[in-house]
Amino acid sequence: MKYSLGTSIQFVKGVGPKIFQIFSDEGISKVEDLIYYFPFRYDDFSKVKKINELKLGEIATVYGVLKTVKAYRIGKKKLFVVEGLLTDESGSIRVIWFGQRYVTSFKDKEIIIAGKVVKNSFGLHLSPLQTQLKEKFNLHVARIVPVYRSIGNLKTKFIRKIIFEVLNNLNWSEVKEFLPDFIISKFNLISLSEAIKKIHFPENEEDISKSKKRFIFQDLLIFHLKILKEEKILEKKTAPQIKIFEEKTKEILDFDLTDDQKKAWEEIKKDLSQTKPMGRLLQGDVGTGKTILSQMAALNVALNGYQVVFMAPTEILAKQHFLNFLSRFSKFNLVIGFISSKETLFGFGNAWTKISRKKFLENVVMKKIDIIIGTHALIGEDIRFKKIGLIIVDEQQRFGVEQRVKLIEKADHPEIFPHFLSLTATPIPRTIALILYGNLDVSLLKQRPYPFLVKIFIIGPDQRKKVYSLVEKKLRDGFQLVVICPRVEEGKELRAVKSEYKKIKEIFKDFSVGILYGKMKAEEKENVIKDMIEGKIQILVSSSVLEVGVNLPKLNLMIIENSERFGLAQLYQMIGRLSREGLESFAFLFVEKLTKSSYQRLKAIKTVNNGFELAEIDLKLRGPGEFFGKSQSGLPDIVIEGLNDKELMEVARKAALEILEKDSSLKSFPEFFEVFQKKGKILLG
Ligand code: ADP
Ligand code: MG
Repeated sequence: MKYSLGTSIQFVKGVGPKIFQIFSDEGISKVEDLIYYFPFRYDDFSKVKKINELKLGEIATVYGVLKTVKAYRIGKKKLFVVEGLLTDESGSIRVIWFGQRYVTSFKDKEIIIAGKVVKNSFGLHLSPLQTQLKEKFNLHVARIVPVYRSIGNLKTKFIRKIIFEVLNNLNWSEVKEFLPDFIISKFNLISLSEAIKKIHFPENEEDISKSKKRFIFQDLLIFHLKILKEEKILEKKTAPQIKIFEEKTKEILDFDLTDDQKKAWEEIKKDLSQTKPMGRLLQGDVGTGKTILSQMAALNVALNGYQVVFMAPTEILAKQHFLNFLSRFSKFNLVIGFISSKETLFGFGNAWTKISRKKFLENVVMKKIDIIIGTHALIGEDIRFKKIGLIIVDEQQRFGVEQRVKLIEKADHPEIFPHFLSLTATPIPRTIALILYGNLDVSLLKQRPYPFLVKIFIIGPDQRKKVYSLVEKKLRDGFQLVVICPRVEEGKELRAVKSEYKKIKEIFKDFSVGILYGKMKAEEKENVIKDMIEGKIQILVSSSVLEVGVNLPKLNLMIIENSERFGLAQLYQMIGRLSREGLESFAFLFVEKLTKSSYQRLKAIKTVNNGFELAEIDLKLRGPGEFFGKSQSGLPDIVIEGLNDKELMEVARKAALEILEKDSSLKSFPEFFEVFQKKGKILLG
């Protein structure tokens, strides 16, 4: 049977209903999705050697007959060991397997091993990375083997088999080249179908680099085109010129701005007073005070008679902003609205009331609401704005490119185009920011208004008790504690919010404990946060939803479970919840298994001064893929990797300019135009 790109993978040989479910949970339901599930690395087992040619430390594939098999158990954990002798016509070598009982059945059979020659307390031997019978097709040995991230409980070996099956039986005529010919030849690229084959099953290093280059190039090209076109479009757009009310702006401040805040405000003011739409990214660590700047901008735009839209990534955070705006703006004659998928609120003065969604939307479109704060419900189908002068996006890194585009599209109006301000605590290298957010100017906040007094400790399992008793003492002194777990439900090896909640209640009997995770009802979440702010609960067990934005001024203690599972930038954000107003605080990073590399990584957190330094370290240690995460950027890992390739970035930009020069409408490259429209959705166009 030949597979089409559109074939559901439930019809692929080897995929039953259960497995189909696992794939589709991951968003892989069609053959086309599967062939774009790229390996994240390769094992080079391509060297096939005779036994007498093997060298110490070398990884190779060896064919032979397995003789004299001996099985026994060792150590406290009674680890199952199989020792055998692999023999070919050139000689013999000892082979040792750990925990792989099935290989005892391979005795006297012809087998293939891909492994490494090592010398340790077991003596000189071959340590297998892959073992299989020779009669089985050797997809997993004697080649450069693609390694895939597991999907649910599907392991790389299985995924490899399925992808191999699909590639071998694909109707390749459907895989159409879409890049213009002159681009392919000028920039020395391989074709799309060749690249797909080679990214999965390369024959040599060159295949890997050429196929990677092709995919990275095509995506970078599209992004550059998008940016270039956007710039062109923006040149023609007119934003409202905002008159700044200095005195009124001062009225919302109940503290002095830091020097960095002052500088950023000057930059924002200048942008707002011009007709060229502002496109500004305000970057600053947690607690550097980004919100107030967005409020100063919002106030002025609203006082000029334009609507302001403020989008935040979570319900809790959006709500907190809503309440904060209300109290800061209570002196002014401005209406502030709140919208999430669950509720709509109408706020004025220091008070707010619930109103129906229908009423709310009517009020918005009639411009009876001046400032609209909400979650991504703001980009809902049925919502229409009126005269938007400014869009603010908080915690920008949490949104995909798409969401921002949608919001701006909604706000576009024949005569006016909104100014745009985004806030983020994730420090981003310039090139990557360009790709993720388009061409934004950057304002930096490096200082915090209060000193950051957090002592950070990395804690192994044996010290858990000690930490608990220390924490208990601090709790008695009136401190508050948050325990963050990487999961919500019970799972293998990782600590989960729900079960940890029970444990913590047992351990800290004298204190009241709350629980918080993403899927809770909005009202429950708010109540918990409110109780925490009011000091009604002393301990909060939470998932990483607490990571973004939320302000808990009395929080001074934090335990992060399985901290090795979090990115450094993410950990830093969580720790940033502490010491908000300069209170001395403690963060305990618990690790289940303390390996050298995880310790090294975590240790970096203790030595840096700000998130920017940390981002650099994280980027180096984990690579850009892990650092940003696919979901956040909407880009495949491989492209994110490419963002670090400055040379390729330049080349792709050059190619984009050449294409535009030939035909700025792109219509004379119909296949490319189609892909561009799908992938490169631009702001307006
Ligand atoms: P973030 O940059 O993480 O979004 P916020 O805007 O939430 O930080 O500010 C953190 C806290 O610091 C808030 O309570 C805010 O009111 C306060 N704050 C902001 N700027 C100053 C300042 N210049 N002086 C004192 N407090 C400030
Ligand atoms: Mg914030």
